[in-house]
Amino acid sequence: MSETFAKPIPHPTPDTQPYWDGLARGALLIQRCGDCGKLRHYPRPVCDGCWSMAHDWAEAGGGGAVHSWTVCHHPFHIGFKAQSPYVLLTVELDEGVRAMGQLRGMDPAGLRLGLRVGVGFEREDDSPVLPVFHPVTE
Ligand code: ZN
Repeated sequence: MSETFAKPIPHPTPDTQPYWDGLARGALLIQRCGDCGKLRHYPRPVCDGCWSMAHDWAEAGGGGAVHSWTVCHHPFHIGFKAQSPYVLLTVELDEGVRAMGQLRGMDPAGLRLGLRVGVGFEREDDSPVLPVFHPVTE
């Protein structure tokens, strides 16, 4: 018996639409405060440094270091069951903000804190393009 279940997909808002548009063209965009210049991620309407609502977008280089990870054996949603276990990384981007994405291209047994990773971009079915991370050597 084969059953598949749709994964929940992100629903862009006016605050997040540029982020999703960036991913669709292969760019990881980070919000930058229009007043104090502080970078922030995930996208949100207010700067936590100066409370300004002004912002623009900066393109991240895509490199970073593993800050944390979890191997998800029990999916939080049944739509992820078929690909479980999968690895969800929290990456400290070189720009100083953290981003999350699934691990690609290596056995999770080789993961370590500070491992250098680079961003990749994947689309699944009708989902928006999502960021993923793979190991890099520099
Ligand atoms: Zn600010």
